[in-house]
Amino acid sequence: MTAPLPPQTPRIGLGSDRHALVAGRPCVLGGVLFDDSPIGPLGHSDADAILHALTDALLGAAGLDDLGTLFPDHDPRWSGADSSELLRAALELVNQAGLRCWSCDIVAVCMEPKIGPRRSLIRKHLAALLSLPTDRVNLKGKTPEGNETGPAAIEVTAVVLLGPASA
Ligand code: MG
Repeated sequence: MTAPLPPQTPRIGLGSDRHALVAGRPCVLGGVLFDDSPIGPLGHSDADAILHALTDALLGAAGLDDLGTLFPDHDPRWSGADSSELLRAALELVNQAGLRCWSCDIVAVCMEPKIGPRRSLIRKHLAALLSLPTDRVNLKGKTPEGNETGPAAIEVTAVVLLGPASA
C-alpha cells in the first residue's frame, strides 16, 4: 500500500479558457478594464478569460469542482458577474480546504487588445486577490502569429501552485 503524501506536499493546478471577442462588450481581462478596446469577451458573466482560467487552476489544484459547476452559465445570478468575485468565492473554498496559493503563471493569447501595456496592472490586481507578492503572480501576453485574419478571441492558460495554509 502507498503511504499517504505528507500534508505539506504542494499541489499543481491547470486552467484554460477561451472567449470570442466581439464589438459592444466591455473588455475586462484579469480584472482590469481595457476602456480603449472596441471588442470584449463574449459570455454570461463579464467573461474575463484570465480570471476564469486562474480560478479553474485554483479549484483543480485543490481537487474541487470547476468554475462551470460552481457558477453555471445558465444561472441568472452570474449574469454579468464580476469574475474577481467568482475567484474570491473559489479561493474561499480553497482556503476552507486548508490550502493557499503559493504562485501562479498565466499566458494570454490574443491579437487585440494588447496585454503588455496593462500587464503590471493585472499582475497587481491578481496579486491582491491571491494575497501574494507581485513576483509570485506572472502574466505573459502573446500574439498568435499567422492567425491575423481568424475570428477575434482570447485564449488563456493558467498554472498555480498550492500549499498548506499553515506553511
Ligand atoms: Mg470563461
